Amino acid sequence: MADIFLFNTLTKKKEKFSPIKEGSVSMYNCGPTVYDYVHIGNLRSYIFADTLRRLFEWHNYKVHQVINVTDIGHLVGDGDDGDDKMTKALKREGKPMTLDSMREIANFYFEKYKEDLKYLNIKTPEEFPFASDHIKEDIELIETLIKKGFTYKISDGLYFDTSKDSHYGKLGGIVEKDETQSRIGVNNEKKNFKDFALWKFNPDLGYDASFGKGFPGWHIECSAMGMKYLGETFDMHTGGIDHIPVHHNNEIAQSENATGKSFVNFWMHNSFVTLNENKMAKSTGNFTRLIDLIKDGYSPIAYRLLLLQCHYKTTLNFSLEALSGAQEALYGIYRTLSLAEKEGKVNSEFIIKFESNINDDLNTPKAIAVLFELLKSDLNAEDKLATALKFDKFLGLEIKEAVALIKKENSEIPENIKNLVSEREEARKNKDFTKADTLRKELDNLDYLIEDSETGPKIYKK
Ligand code: AMP
Ligand code: ZN
Repeated sequence: MADIFLFNTLTKKKEKFSPIKEGSVSMYNCGPTVYDYVHIGNLRSYIFADTLRRLFEWHNYKVHQVINVTDIGHLVGDGDDGDDKMTKALKREGKPMTLDSMREIANFYFEKYKEDLKYLNIKTPEEFPFASDHIKEDIELIETLIKKGFTYKISDGLYFDTSKDSHYGKLGGIVEKDETQSRIGVNNEKKNFKDFALWKFNPDLGYDASFGKGFPGWHIECSAMGMKYLGETFDMHTGGIDHIPVHHNNEIAQSENATGKSFVNFWMHNSFVTLNENKMAKSTGNFTRLIDLIKDGYSPIAYRLLLLQCHYKTTLNFSLEALSGAQEALYGIYRTLSLAEKEGKVNSEFIIKFESNINDDLNTPKAIAVLFELLKSDLNAEDKLATALKFDKFLGLEIKEAVALIKKENSEIPENIKNLVSEREEARKNKDFTKADTLRKELDNLDYLIEDSETGPKIYKK
């Protein structure tokens, strides 16, 4: 099988991917902060991670995937500013300020998040670790950093001193001065602007540690969980591009200074989904939830297709028009493939073409174009189906299930519908196109769609 090339944020170039351990890939994807529902922008990150997973599986790698669940410690600002997101959720939902209530909220939104993943046909990772179950690992990591002299204490927490790390900011995107500081207020006790909290003190609520009661910082959680499940050095770490400047640079600084080893070989980041040209974000209210799209009659898999039609490094400005277009295309794919009587032979030329695109830094738009090329080609319907099903192991468009459903519905078409279709065929033969058109509309009103093919009309339940 040909090599995989992926754009590595760490080196800023496309590189040949080879894992540390032959035959397996270790991958960590920054997961949701479960203080609220996720939006379709967040979900892009997990479709992206799932696509990567499926690429590795295409190459027969065994994937060990971790998606963490941030249920404590994530502040409203990406740095150390703003309120704690979970505390805000407790206030919003009128729950008591206790660790148990935090977990209750976290469990609720985590279940909702998993429902979204299922709708989108995203595979379940091997691990879904909750931050609050890994306090011991956070504390151990912080104690190592204290011993090695990378930390200092100020009134609100224990901080990482970035001036002690000559490699700080390896991923780039470092902001020297943050405009939001003027809004939120500068922490004058910090030695350097870029220093970040490893632990925030809270005498009333939190966890006991040798350095004071409180909560771990959001960054230390990802370092601790990543290394616990995948080892001190692992293959792949992903997240949205907003994580590059602060969160991921901080994860590298903590982990590498604690272990003296390189933390992650490949860093990859997906671009944003925007709405009305602005970043989709919970904080601004500019967002759409998947469940609302489903309630309005859109297929979640159409959203998956819409994302695949856009390269992961390109911003996607979401619109219902674009989603409708993707849905039409998706249903067209299903209908064409349901013409096959059975599965034929996989066409190796198409597979090679498809694979060369997915191997090239996940060029999913081109891979989708190969799928359409296959559908339009003069291969027989059976070979088209077999080849598309192989593509779908990577694409995850649920082609097998949809084709089976169409076939089942077609076998259950009621007599009155079949009669209308025959009547329309008769009218077409007699060149009475007005009557044929009226009958098509009648069928449409009865929720049946008719498509004329070389072998005669095909009827589909809408
Ligand atoms: P959060 O729950 O805020 O920690 O975000 C979960 C994931 O969604 C992270 O990988 C973010 O980088 C990503 N993300 C947040 N907003 C967007 C967006 N508008 N488009 C794409 N990814 C996003
Ligand atoms: Zn993270």
